Amino acid sequence: MKKDQSLVIKPLLDGNYPVISHGEGIYLYDKDGKAYIDAASGAVTASIGHGNAEIIEAMNEQAKKVSFVYRSQFTSDAVEELARELNEWAGGDEDYYTFFVNSGSEATETAMKIAIQHFQERGLPQKNIIISRWTSYHGITIGALSMSGHKKRRERFHSLLADYPVVAPPACYRCPFGETYPACHLKCAEDLITAIEKNGAEHIAAFIAEPIIGAAGAAIVPPPGYYERIMEICREHDILFIADEVMTGIARCGTPLGINHWNVLPDIIALGKGLSAGYTPMAAALCTETVLEPIKNGSNFIMSGHTYSANPQSAATALAVLRYVRKHGLIERSKENGTYLKKKLKSLFNHFACIGDVRGAGMMVGIEFVRHRSSKKPYDSLLGFTQKLVKAAQNNGLLIYPAGTARTKGDGDAVIIAPPLITTEEEIDEIVHRLKQSIDEVLLEMPS
Ligand code: PMP
Repeated sequence: MKKDQSLVIKPLLDGNYPVISHGEGIYLYDKDGKAYIDAASGAVTASIGHGNAEIIEAMNEQAKKVSFVYRSQFTSDAVEELARELNEWAGGDEDYYTFFVNSGSEATETAMKIAIQHFQERGLPQKNIIISRWTSYHGITIGALSMSGHKKRRERFHSLLADYPVVAPPACYRCPFGETYPACHLKCAEDLITAIEKNGAEHIAAFIAEPIIGAAGAAIVPPPGYYERIMEICREHDILFIADEVMTGIARCGTPLGINHWNVLPDIIALGKGLSAGYTPMAAALCTETVLEPIKNGSNFIMSGHTYSANPQSAATALAVLRYVRKHGLIERSKENGTYLKKKLKSLFNHFACIGDVRGAGMMVGIEFVRHRSSKKPYDSLLGFTQKLVKAAQNNGLLIYPAGTARTKGDGDAVIIAPPLITTEEEIDEIVHRLKQSIDEVLLEMPS
């Protein structure tokens, strides 16, 4: 006898999840009529808000033409135009070419494969290691997870993961070397040299980093000069730099890409999330002509791809999103609103000694919670501060994103506030008001 109950496997199998009926702008509404401010843009994804008429129109127009063609047989106007548009977003003088996929994990895994294949085709197949940072998240598939410093998501699958080297994160609030910028002389960047010397540059294909560390670090912004030094080290050792822009890309950080906060042009760029702003699964790995050239001159084929890669329906949707972001000045708005959001969140320092740090760029702001700001000592993880706060906020009609910290490889308490880029100052005031109320409620359950 079949059961009359939900058969959807949810993150918590026995979890009680509200059923969403619709979304509009920065709000989501559940079937019971409760409204939530989506101050996390889902998972830092719905960056132009919900129910956008211009995007829906573009999706309908494409659906009337053709939704699917197989990439081994055809290309389409939508996908060609999107690649051209992304070449502009990537910046620089050199052309960036795009390999389309469907999720951030596929984008970083494709980036990794392009890097490895680049060296194979240059006759250097032993250059196949990818270095990452120990506070990082690059995705859930086995290759992407091999490059990720996310302890909890890795531990069950250790035997399947590549044993890649990791380096220290550029996390000034909890400097892994106990130093302060600029007296530190960017020891975190120099740590890449240590890893290169240990493993041999002849074995290393790429270094991958989130320009601003997201899920594993709650919007950790590296200090000035960090990526310029990283790039220098990569160049000296013939190592490619992969910027994982899945969370930070497409105006999220007040710039076209997160890496634009530094004067650096990555060799390979992974995009996802804000690329289609949640309207359809869409992600991409971009690489420069220099990276692509040996492959073109060699096998002339990138050994990767998915059935839904480069489908015109997703391409038209993403193209409409990118045009919307440009047309409505959302890069600038992300910068301005983000400055306001950060200022408002910093004003909470006056109310809460448990707010240790407020950081981030544009509309991606992280808050790290501690027992007391003066000691930076975290709460006992068994107290579940972050989970309690996310729950309290949801009860108060506010959605926020739980994240890790640079403390002992990703644990500690932190959240990311990343509302849609269209959020107004009044709406930011309301977000901060609901957050304050939620922190007050959780503190009642915490030891003093
Ligand atoms: N890279 C980064 C920086 C991410 O934040 C994420 C998702 N949180 C991923 C990769 C993986 O993306 P997806 O969940 O779409 O596979």
